[in-house]
Amino acid sequence: MSIPNVCINWCYREATCPWCSLPIKVTTPCVAVFFWRKGNPEVRGYNIKRFYHPDCWIAQGLDYLKMNPYIPRGEKRGPKTTLTVEQKTARMKLLRKKAMLEQQKRRIKSDYPDSLLTASRIDDKIMNVMLDIYKVGGIPAKWKQCLIDSLENTKTT
Ligand SMILES: [Zn+2]
Repeated sequence: MSIPNVCINWCYREATCPWCSLPIKVTTPCVAVFFWRKGNPEVRGYNIKRFYHPDCWIAQGLDYLKMNPYIPRGEKRGPKTTLTVEQKTARMKLLRKKAMLEQQKRRIKSDYPDSLLTASRIDDKIMNVMLDIYKVGGIPAKWKQCLIDSLENTKTT
């Protein structure tokens, strides 16, 4: 494994975010990640550049930590998770789906006549993702907070 080099910058050329698979627009902030590995005579080196929405970069990092829980230094590493490979793949897909839905929701223009309807349709989809992910490793703690926030928002509006 190579250690990635990460920096945050403005997006100058549209790219696709590997986490939510939506485009990152020019003039918006983006996280640039460079994986770099020096080659040797047997193995070719490589250079990988990826661009993420800042919130997607955090989301993928936090999920990585969730799947690789904190282990105090010096303790032996046990099995990482109890999920099967299929379950892990399913979980990853659901996390990405939710990220995609959140991006879509953020893009709704409030002056559109059907913006509330569109937002509640997306909320329904997010709810379904939550129910599905419950079966494969549980609902991430951060999502639960989002759920509480959105319930409180509906109360006040
Ligand atoms: Zn994204």
